[in-house]
Amino acid sequence: TQKLQVNQLKKHFQVGKDETLKAVDGVSFEVYEGETFGLVGESGCGKSTIGRTIMGLYDRTEGEVVFNGKNVHELKDTETFNFHRSMQMIFQDPYASLNPRSTVKEIISEPMEIHGLYPDKRERLDRVYQLLEEVGLSRDHANRYPHEFSGGQRQRIGIARALALDPEFIIADEPISALDVSVQAQVVNLLRKLQKEKGLTYLFIAHDLSMVKHISDRIGVMYLGNMVELTKAGDLYKRPLHPYTQALLSAIPIPDPDVEEGRERMILEGELPSPINPPSGCVFRTRCPFAMEACAKVSPVWQEIEENHYVACHLYNEEIQDKTPIKETVL
Ligand code: SF4
Ligand code: MG
Repeated sequence: TQKLQVNQLKKHFQVGKDETLKAVDGVSFEVYEGETFGLVGESGCGKSTIGRTIMGLYDRTEGEVVFNGKNVHELKDTETFNFHRSMQMIFQDPYASLNPRSTVKEIISEPMEIHGLYPDKRERLDRVYQLLEEVGLSRDHANRYPHEFSGGQRQRIGIARALALDPEFIIADEPISALDVSVQAQVVNLLRKLQKEKGLTYLFIAHDLSMVKHISDRIGVMYLGNMVELTKAGDLYKRPLHPYTQALLSAIPIPDPDVEEGRERMILEGELPSPINPPSGCVFRTRCPFAMEACAKVSPVWQEIEENHYVACHLYNEEIQDKTPIKETVL
């Protein structure tokens, strides 16, 4: 069953007098109950903005976000309150999101206080201890301050806080990007364990494809405010269709058994263009080695090429006859 639907979502920001930053420019996807949907792309591609717009922290410019059948931007008072309980966020930098002057106990208790859960102090403290144990910490940590912990432990505190309200859905915005590789796997394992125990649904945001496969059921790849490819995690690694996905995969340093052998390393040239003046046609064309004439003129349509495998790229558009690549990148 569908837990979350994002339909043709646009989030534009006004910059200066008459410029518009198209952070998210018409993105659609669904997240099913109990799954992990990985949302991947370089920084600046709009993935965090999508997370914040889904949370209702940003209003949307166009389109809609539907959670449990309700449009999150049109909720009434009590519905908003319940929604904020059901959907929680974990952040990239737990240190920045944990109040340095609060103890772990206060940090984890705060959402419960706001929502009036466990009004009895003793029960609330028991709940804090229980949450600490669920994330692999101990009750002895309850009276300490964030700076006394390692990065991985701080992320566990952030996870405990997110779980305090017993949510159904968690948006994890690059929760492991700031951690050492050895610690990344531990946090991913913890998130998977919690998902199983609590039936959680995750939107897992990442800037590359190296770790997401270990947690995601399906993955959507974003580039400059657009979704360019979406499919099951295994299929994305075995048979990436979009040139940008291929480039992201070829950037994974350690050979991955699931990544087809003999694949050439593909280095993207040039910078990520500004979302204020995105390229015409396909937004990826300024860096795409396969860009052809049509790419500058027409935006590629979102097509289902194989079962449950969607891509937006003219290479797969049968109506385009001339697929000769333009060697020099045209701006
Ligand atoms: Fe490259 Fe053209 Fe496909 Fe865009 S539409 S990814 S520029 S081939
Ligand atoms: Mg971000």
